[in-house]
Amino acid sequence: MTDAKTDQATGRTSPWELAIGPEPADWDDWVEYDGGAWPERKEIHYRCIPTICFNCESGCGLLAFVDKSSGEIAKFEGNPLHPGSRGRLCAKGPATINQVNDSERILKPLKRKGPRGGGEWEEVSWDEAVADIGARIGKALREERHDEIMYHVGRPGEDHFVLRMLQAWGVDAHNSHTNVCSASARLGFSLSFGADRPSPDYANAKFILLISAHLETGHYFNPHAQRIIEAKNNGARIAVVDTRLSNTSTHADRWISPWPGSEGAMLLAVARLLLTSGRVDKDFMRRWTNWADCLASKDPEGPQTLERYLELLAEEYAEYTPEYAMAECQIEEGTIEYLADRIAEAGSAFTSHLWRSTAAGNLGGWQVARILMLLHSLTGSVGTKGGLNPNSWDKFVPKPSLNPPPNSRWNERLWPKEWPLAHYEMSFLLPHLLREQDSKVDVYFTRVYNPVWTNPDGCSWIEMFEHASRIGCHVALTPTWNETAQWADYVLPVGLAPERHDVMSQETHAATWIGFRQPVLREYERLKGANPQTTLGFNPGEVWEEAEFWIALTHAIDPDGSLGIAKYFESPDRPGEPATMDEYWSDVFGNVPGLPEAAEKEGQSPLEYMRRHGAFEVPYAGRERYATQAKDASGLEVEPGDFRAGFKTLSKRIEIFSPVMGEWGFDEGVLPSYQRSQVHWSAMDLAAGDRALLPTFRLPTLIHTRSANAKWLQEISHTNPLWMNPGDAAQFGLQTGDLVRVHTQIGYFIPRVWVTEGMHPGVVACSHHVGRWRMFSGSGATGASSLVDIERTGSRFLFRAKQGARPFSSSDPDSERVFWKETGVNQNMTFPVQPDPASGMHCWHQKVNIKRAQDGDRYGDISVDTALSREIYEQWKGATHPAPGPGGLRRPLHMHRPLRPTDDAYRF
Ligand code: SF4
Repeated sequence: MTDAKTDQATGRTSPWELAIGPEPADWDDWVEYDGGAWPERKEIHYRCIPTICFNCESGCGLLAFVDKSSGEIAKFEGNPLHPGSRGRLCAKGPATINQVNDSERILKPLKRKGPRGGGEWEEVSWDEAVADIGARIGKALREERHDEIMYHVGRPGEDHFVLRMLQAWGVDAHNSHTNVCSASARLGFSLSFGADRPSPDYANAKFILLISAHLETGHYFNPHAQRIIEAKNNGARIAVVDTRLSNTSTHADRWISPWPGSEGAMLLAVARLLLTSGRVDKDFMRRWTNWADCLASKDPEGPQTLERYLELLAEEYAEYTPEYAMAECQIEEGTIEYLADRIAEAGSAFTSHLWRSTAAGNLGGWQVARILMLLHSLTGSVGTKGGLNPNSWDKFVPKPSLNPPPNSRWNERLWPKEWPLAHYEMSFLLPHLLREQDSKVDVYFTRVYNPVWTNPDGCSWIEMFEHASRIGCHVALTPTWNETAQWADYVLPVGLAPERHDVMSQETHAATWIGFRQPVLREYERLKGANPQTTLGFNPGEVWEEAEFWIALTHAIDPDGSLGIAKYFESPDRPGEPATMDEYWSDVFGNVPGLPEAAEKEGQSPLEYMRRHGAFEVPYAGRERYATQAKDASGLEVEPGDFRAGFKTLSKRIEIFSPVMGEWGFDEGVLPSYQRSQVHWSAMDLAAGDRALLPTFRLPTLIHTRSANAKWLQEISHTNPLWMNPGDAAQFGLQTGDLVRVHTQIGYFIPRVWVTEGMHPGVVACSHHVGRWRMFSGSGATGASSLVDIERTGSRFLFRAKQGARPFSSSDPDSERVFWKETGVNQNMTFPVQPDPASGMHCWHQKVNIKRAQDGDRYGDISVDTALSREIYEQWKGATHPAPGPGGLRRPLHMHRPLRPTDDAYRF
């Protein structure tokens, strides 16, 4: 760890000058005065222990303050030693204390009594649960039913443990939430430069283009936000492209509010202007892009020169004039010229981010990432100071010494042939895929994941859970109650941020770091001299940590080692015995470059160093890594005889031209191009009430599911009104607070309207972060969710609140102070699945029809017909280009997956 006080190399402000946190030398005995005892000067003595926030994927460093008089965690602040977050947190970090102390959290493992979804539970021991689930998985593996195991993750919060474990089990079982989150942009970036996320060097940028609400809520929110503001303070300009006036837009020099889904047309117009005005970094384009391949394919008879290629691109995009973009995108005159000028001025110090937003909302949204990469290529702003890095440069994933080989299976429940280029698993289609394939998942883990509430078409998930022939045993690993857990067979309470071991690394800036999440009270006791062997017993109730649970489960699956699985989680010193956390993480940290040496300087082992510091800055491999001299001719020949590392694409160059898309039937995707979205304005009859609905925006103070158990966050944000432009409100005769019926293709929902100039005319928006509900009293979140009745008629569901939020008695007196009643609307349930044919991403934006609420409608009503959702699924599936592709493959071999199987598994 570099000393932040004297860190001139990074130009970082010293956190101690800003009094961001106690200095590490004071962590063993940090003294503050008790504010409640004023005017008496009563001292509180704390021990400060670092861990990592678990409330989003940024991995910010927390510092837990353990009150020595009670032995309890009193509060969380930022860990000033953490290279990504630098001592700062967003509102959700300190609110971890609410989650720890939540009077309604699940404290014991529970097993279903009666029918699934019936709301009756009995307590069960961890040993019993592990033995039962382990035996079930072991049986499936011995009977070659590997595809009937599935692990479905919402918030990962760790980087290798579970993937390695599933690989050890030999199952193609990893399912994620990525196709309802970010798979679309990831495909575009991956096709372009072989890394599926951008890592902007905000702090050094001269112009920042944010196609998202990235400053306030994106990945990686707090670490990115502080660097964007740093750049702004240093004179950088910021443009934010967001149909809605987000908090991020309010910090921009220019807010651009296009019609949703038209962003690609806007960016192509900028590219055309750069090309036609000659503002192009020709040297970068010539050396680092696959222009020659493009010319050889598109104009084999013409001159094979860069000049001809640039001319060809200008011809390709000739129609994208500023005037066309103005009309197509419904943006202000001068927008294209402004963006082109700022991007050209910034040159190699132009950076950007695209996250969720248009990529996640629209058919073909993945192309926007490619167009953005075209702009970065034209300006040579890739891997430069102030430019855009591949995320893989700025992230480091440490691993244990012994790692299992890739498995040789391909699970069609996750990777169906219709979506051969899907960037992640087709997770949100699971109910449709199981029904269509007439298949089953025998053991299904939902892990900090709530698909009934989060995913589109949640009622199809309910129907799936109701059938044991589809889901044999549903194990919900969750720290809090959620909608999906109501249909579980086991509800297993896993730890929050200060209750578990994980390692995290994220591409927060042009650097690499790892952070260590650790069970704070276990570490507190260890520092006092104890020798804890398990985390169970140091957390509230019987809350356990996952790493120890998974190790115990692995040994229950393979008790005698005959499956060859248990050896990956064995103690190095006690053959056949499960590894302890100390053994596991000692091995992992011993493999981190530079860490053993840094630890030795402080007289510590690598594990001790991580327990004390909470983070380590891994030596950085530098910028412009593609230009590194290759050792031999296997590199990229950028000049005759000059071999360089290049990018991780097939051509080792940035692939503006993507032949693989053509080979797999996506001719329109060979070059970056614009495709009109499913919510294009031409498809709307505005006079009849049609509107485009943006349902994707987050609230900066909320987490998807778990903020319902953080009282401070819930007090700040507890409703999700429908944003509507005043002109639209006038057409419908609506005012702020009026109820409205929003019809989707499969049902409707009833929110209240918020009339605001911050919304593009013809478009409405509603945050997905609110709208929690529960079927039974006693299943958590009394102050944040509504108790509902669900009326069922065939395939039709009507959800109706019978009780909103209310004050209630608990061990926390604040629960008596709940002053709000309405808890928002779960709009996602009323959306059909809309899988993009290429990326597989759910295209979130909805064409809706708006009416005033009808007699009998009530706030929060949700109506859905799952028969209609099946019809819409079929329509979208009809637009796919199924495998096999060239060579009889399920998927191109160079397209990776989170848990990549052997090459043989890629073949039918
Ligand atoms: S951005 Fe906020 S929620 Fe996310 S890890 Fe950091 S402090 Fe936690």
